[in-house]
Amino acid sequence: MKQTAIFRSPLFLEHMKNFDHIESAQRLEVLYEALDQPEIAKHFLFPAFEPASHKLLEQVHAPAYVKRVAATAGKPQVVLDPDTRTSPLSYEAACLAAGSAITAARLLVEGEIKNAFCLVRPPGHHAESDHAMGFCLFNNVAVAARYAIEQLKLKRVLIVDWDIHHGNGTQHSFYDTDEVLYFSIHLSPHYPGTGASYEIGNGQGEGYTINVPLSSHLDNQAYATVFNNLLTPITRQYKPELIILSAGYDIHRDDPLGGMLVTGPGFSYMTKVLLDLAAELCDNRFMACLEGGYSLHGLREGVFATLSEMRGQSLLTDKAVIEFTSAAYPIRALDETRNIAKKFWTL
Ligand SMILES: [Zn+2]
Repeated sequence: MKQTAIFRSPLFLEHMKNFDHIESAQRLEVLYEALDQPEIAKHFLFPAFEPASHKLLEQVHAPAYVKRVAATAGKPQVVLDPDTRTSPLSYEAACLAAGSAITAARLLVEGEIKNAFCLVRPPGHHAESDHAMGFCLFNNVAVAARYAIEQLKLKRVLIVDWDIHHGNGTQHSFYDTDEVLYFSIHLSPHYPGTGASYEIGNGQGEGYTINVPLSSHLDNQAYATVFNNLLTPITRQYKPELIILSAGYDIHRDDPLGGMLVTGPGFSYMTKVLLDLAAELCDNRFMACLEGGYSLHGLREGVFATLSEMRGQSLLTDKAVIEFTSAAYPIRALDETRNIAKKFWTL
């Protein structure tokens, strides 16, 4: 039977290891410690993977930018952006993080694994074609989606981004194309300032960027409402061949950078919606890449809620599933986005 694959590496702990930064190695340490327990590890597969080559990174990033990040290798510290610095092994870690997402996409399309979660650092969704931003060096999900299109010959990839911050880099990577549908649900106003409802894509990509900019303090029911009433009907019409999740756990109730009220059952339900869509539309091809999440407890609760769904051992009760499925929370941003998206999708 196929298993859920987890991509992990000690190298991901080396990025900014001894620096005082909220995007810390401890974030992965708490996850890896749990996965080191044999009774948990036995449920997962841990495939080998390689760093992304410059050729594959350059399908998303400008060659000069890739060179700039490569030039940080071995240097004690380089400041790339006010929020984003490197340590001696950051470049290697960033190449390996993108490489894990590439391998996950390949193994999924080859039918070797059930689904995949890349538990990586540095995160990726703020990284732009030509510059680092918001703790991100290379855009892991964008590199994987571009690889799926160019090398694996897929025609439609859905990227869902539930991190509390808008994934500006991912949006910009696919703003002009219908080959990737980018769906982001995020807090607004908030960093990085992009992700308004009216940002819908351009040219061939018009209608293939969907942004739901939420006000703060929204809970599991609100997220379920958006997933049921906007993401699900659009995804059914788009018919993706692969679903990639930018999995940010900074929407957790306890997150210090957050402002949302999502908890374990909310993460379980959102994952379930995505897995059900993947089962219905694309032979279960679903992969997640870790983005934010800065409460160590919240991160761990959220990631293991996601992983439990992925391996078919849901933590949700039947009653909770019924409640979430019928969730109808009034959300102004949802109405605004739906009205704009109606031009492109039957809603
Ligand atoms: Zn974030």
